[in-house]
Formats: sequence, C-alpha cells, structure tokens
Amino acid sequence: MKKAANSMKITFPGYSKNESLARMCAAAFAAQLDPTVEEISDIKAAVSEAVTNCIVHGYRDTIGDIDMKMKILDNDTLYIKITDKGTGIEDVEQAMQPLFTTCPEGERAGLGFAVMESFTDKLRVKSTPGKGTSVTMIKQVCRRG
Ligand code: ATP
Ligand code: MG
Repeated sequence: MKKAANSMKITFPGYSKNESLARMCAAAFAAQLDPTVEEISDIKAAVSEAVTNCIVHGYRDTIGDIDMKMKILDNDTLYIKITDKGTGIEDVEQAMQPLFTTCPEGERAGLGFAVMESFTDKLRVKSTPGKGTSVTMIKQVCRRG
C-alpha cells in the first residue's frame, strides 16, 4: 500500500443538495495535485455518481450518513472512498454491468458505475445487503511541469 501524504474525511447526510458539496470538496482536495481541468472534471463526475447512488439507492426513502474519505498516495495518486450504511447490493457484479439499473421506470440509465470506471483508474465496490456499500476509486493525476 502506498503511503498517504495527506488525507481527509467528511460525513454528511444524504440530501441531494450535498451531492454538489461532495463534488466541490473532492475537487478542492484534489487541487493540491495540480490536476488538469479534464482530470478535475473526471473526479467530480465520478464522485457525483457514487454519492448520487448512496442517496437514491442506498438510502432510497430515508436519509442516512455518507462518508467520503480521500488520500493523496505517493504524491500523484488520489484515493477516494465513499460509503453508505443503506440497503446494500445483492449482486455487485450484475449491478456494475453497463445499463443495469433497478430503477428502469425512473430517469436512471444504469451508467453510474460505467462512468466511475471510465473516469478513474481503478474502481472497487464492496457491499453487504442490509448493511451498506463502499466504492473505492483510485485516480492517477499526471504531474505537469
Ligand atoms: P444512473 O447512475 O445511470 O442514473 P443507476 O444508478 O441505476 O443509473 P448505476 O449507478 O450504474 O446505475 O448503479 C447500478 C445499480 O446498482 C443501481 O440501479 C442500484 O440497484 C445499485 N446500486 C448502486 N449503488 C448503490 C448503493 N450505494 N446502494 C444500493 N444499491 C446501489
Ligand atoms: Mg447511479
């Protein structure tokens, strides 16, 4: 495991307005790696999808806490872990398939995990039905100059 050069953790209730809070915090923390505009927008999009999933699927008709932990590893790698203590996922492999959604009647496309996967370098999802879900993402930020 790479050594953490810096770290932070925030906990916020799963109100939809807190999705933008999480995006902004992630972008602000990542800024110390001097990312490109594209890297920042990738990080924001991936965090948005993970937090939205906690809110709409994890906590469905309730409001619960969401944890977001971030670390800088080896001065060029961003680690992001987003956790809820909501419903959990029965079959993670199936949930991660592009276009799979348990809310087809709504505006869900089933593309959240695909976005997280394509905008980061590594995605790991752990979930226990009835206990909750954690999504860990690793993003390499290329140093310039
Ligand atoms: P979209 O993200 O395109 O709006 P979606 O949320 O259904 O649609 P994904 O984000 O790829 O698509 O998630 C796929 C499925 O995995 C969801 O429909 C849901 O069943 C399950 N899921 C994802 N995250 C969680 C979570 N935190 N808690 C419980 N279930 C989840
Ligand atoms: Mg989603």
